[in-house]
Order: sequence, then structure tokens, then C-alpha cells
Amino acid sequence: MEKDCVFCQIVEGLKPAEFVYQDKSLVVFKDINPHAPVHLLIVPRRHIRSINDLQEEDVNIISEMILRAREAAQECSVAESGYKLLFNVERGGGQVIFHLHLHLLGGWR
Ligand code: 5GP
Ligand code: ZN
Repeated sequence: MEKDCVFCQIVEGLKPAEFVYQDKSLVVFKDINPHAPVHLLIVPRRHIRSINDLQEEDVNIISEMILRAREAAQECSVAESGYKLLFNVERGGGQVIFHLHLHLLGGWR
């Protein structure tokens, strides 16, 4: 855990969040400042800074994040209407929390 990392603090239960799913490798919680009617963050428990820091052996966690996003989209009833999955990468890509996360955005009419 990186003690100054907000998402590590959420993963460790040191900072509150509205969790919708948790397992041994990742958590899913609602974005505090939603940009869509449904805005979830899919977050690995392990601290990885960004997509740039992925290693070959991280293939499993990335696959799990995408598959979990698919499940969350179904559970939030946006699977059929459609949704966006987004990784912001580093400052120029709009990343402000430097702990890897996948945005799930949907629910527009
Ligand atoms: P980024 O721009 O790094 O891809 O996205 C970070 C996201 O995390 C933003 O959409 C922001 O609203 C969300 N966020 C930042 N701090 C917190 C927090 O403490 N709790 C929750 N639930 N979301 C947060
Ligand atoms: Zn972290």
C-alpha cells in the first residue's frame, strides 16, 4: 500500500467509499464526482500507478477488470443501452489519481 494514495486508502477501508463489489484482487465503487448517471471505478487492490506501469504478468488483473466492468454494467442495467470504459493515462491523459482504475460510464438517455 502507498500511504498517500487515496485509492489504496479506500481499498484498505481507511477512507469510505460506496462499494458495489469487492473480491480478492479488485474493488468497484461509485465515483465521488460522477460524470454520468452511472459512474463506477474498477480498481485493483494492488497499487499500480497507471497503464504505463503494467507488466506482462499483469495480464490477469487487466482481464479481470474488464470482465468485472461487464458484470457491473449488467448489474446497473446499462449493458444493453451502452456504456464507455475509459483509462486516463498520466497527467496529459487526464489522470489525477495515480492508482490504476477503469471508469465505467453510462446510463444516458
Ligand atoms: P482519473 O482522472 O484519475 O482517471 O479519475 C479519478 C476519479 O476518481 C475521478 O473521476 C474522481 O471523481 C474520483 N475520485 C477522486 N477521489 C475520490 C474519492 O475519494 N472517492 C471516490 N469514490 N472517487 C474519487
Ligand atoms: Zn494506490
